[in-house]
Amino acid sequence: MLSKRIIITLDIDWASDEIIDYCKELLLKHRVKATWFITHDSPAIKEIFKHRQSFEVGIHPNFLPGSTQGSNTQEVMEHLLRICPDAKIMRTHSLYQSSLLFLTIIEKYPQIDKDVSLFLPYAKYTESYRLFLNQKYITRIPFIWEDDFEMTSKEPKFALDHRFDFRQGAKIFNFHPIHIVLNSCGYENYLKLKNSHDPKKLSLKQALRFRNKALPGTEDFLRELIARKEKKSFIQELEGVS
Ligand SMILES: [Zn+2]
Repeated sequence: MLSKRIIITLDIDWASDEIIDYCKELLLKHRVKATWFITHDSPAIKEIFKHRQSFEVGIHPNFLPGSTQGSNTQEVMEHLLRICPDAKIMRTHSLYQSSLLFLTIIEKYPQIDKDVSLFLPYAKYTESYRLFLNQKYITRIPFIWEDDFEMTSKEPKFALDHRFDFRQGAKIFNFHPIHIVLNSCGYENYLKLKNSHDPKKLSLKQALRFRNKALPGTEDFLRELIARKEKKSFIQELEGVS
């Protein structure tokens, strides 16, 4: 089977350390490169930074009202850049975006020169492009799959099938650590878990009690991608992206 141009990313979304560790160990065990978008600081996040051969780290700013990262764009960006000073990539939480936001990033935080907040589900053609504002630009790279989008789709299917077309451009797949651990195939188990536990303080043991074992789910799909992907596949290593 031909290897595929697959890129794996993870939005940490305030997952607890044991949940992050589970995903980190899974990726390291299979020697798979991945890009983590971080939301906060913790001992498990510090461990991710130590594996620079395997992991690329970007930021996952939450610009929505009530954000724990800060009360405006500058506060949120500076909070995350203190945790990850050499970040070059971002994906916004909930894919929040606007022209004004990109203008602020381009003007004030030029170190962030790539954005992966553009979601084009199952897109065949996935070229990156330069968004120019005031003669400066940020490179925008679309991603084509996300676990929670699949979970809420009409007929969720966690398998590499005809929906995916690898002929034009690398394809970016996005995961959330909690849905890997739960092997989520829908929202039911996650909502049950949230009724009785705080996901930010969750132990692995507590989470595994809610794990889906009945149907193919998020971790199964991640493992299928791992088996089919090329080794060299950081976002920064993508050809034609500058
Ligand atoms: Zn998020």
